[in-house]
Amino acid sequence: MSKIGFIGLGRMGRPMASNLQRKGFDLLVHDLNAASVEALVELGAAAARGPADIAAQCDLIFTMLPATQDVEQVVLGPAGLTVNARPATVIVDMSTIDPKGTDRIAAGVKAAGMSMVDAPVGRLASHADRGECLFMVGASATDFARIRPMLEAMGTTIHHCGEVGTGTRTKLVNNYLAVVSCQLNAEALALSQSFGLSLEKTLEVIHGTTATNGQLKIAWPTKVLVDDIEPGFAIDLAHKDLSLIVAAANDNGVPVPVAAAAREAYNMARAASFGRKDFSAMVDVLCELASIEKPRLPNKQPN
Ligand code: NAD
Repeated sequence: MSKIGFIGLGRMGRPMASNLQRKGFDLLVHDLNAASVEALVELGAAAARGPADIAAQCDLIFTMLPATQDVEQVVLGPAGLTVNARPATVIVDMSTIDPKGTDRIAAGVKAAGMSMVDAPVGRLASHADRGECLFMVGASATDFARIRPMLEAMGTTIHHCGEVGTGTRTKLVNNYLAVVSCQLNAEALALSQSFGLSLEKTLEVIHGTTATNGQLKIAWPTKVLVDDIEPGFAIDLAHKDLSLIVAAANDNGVPVPVAAAAREAYNMARAASFGRKDFSAMVDVLCELASIEKPRLPNKQPN
């Protein structure tokens, strides 16, 4: 079996690549951050000189990068994967990017004689650590069958959404709800704090009604509410996703006033130097602005 390429070893890519390597796949990896590459080398992976080197040696390549321009550069750029294009190579982009960017990259990949899959990831970074990712896959039936064993090494739930481009579009729909929920939770808990209510009792009430949501119930008790605001999923990335969501909705003539307002709330958090903090820290931004105590559960350890 030839090596599998993996580019982008950040908060998500590093544990995902580590799970692949630990479960018997032989990786050739690349990241701009040498320390992340070194961590994979310690698990037995090999370090590549760059994307073109990976394309020369691997016919299956995963990317997990921040934004559209990063994926475009790594795949189609002057030192990118298509420089050493070989037929039957499949590139699987798992990043959350602009759907039109996915379409453009897929067209460039196809023109180079290779094949493209979009397989963005749902759930939290802690799920990625445990190999419990959810994938939303846009792929031909043949490519889907080929990459399935690797997705199963990184995750527990795999949805084939349709042809290339459907994974990214499904992901934007999912993240609309996840990222806006986080802003709603921030406002609701800041209000609760300003009333001087018991945080534990308030959460107990909310979790027993239809007001609850996955962010509040599953994510927050392991992050901001136990005083861990390191990402996780960074506010910068949440702002990026809302920007993609508003642009895509506007392109399609779909009004999304709540998404637009939430995007600016995330933008405000970035202006307050919270961009590199977990998106559950949106509540801390509001509490700092309102000079009220941040909501923290007593006697609980971060995940
Ligand atoms: P991150 O910023 O932690 O990691 C990105 C990695 O890509 C970094 O290690 C960086 O050095 C590397 N990189 C950037 N440009 C590069 C280039 N040109 N060549 C090589 N390496 C490069 O981001 P993350 O949290 O791992 O997220 C990655 C993607 O997954 C994003 O699109 C994000 O929206 C999405 N996502 C994140 C989460 C989450 O909870 N963190 C969950 C689902 C999806």
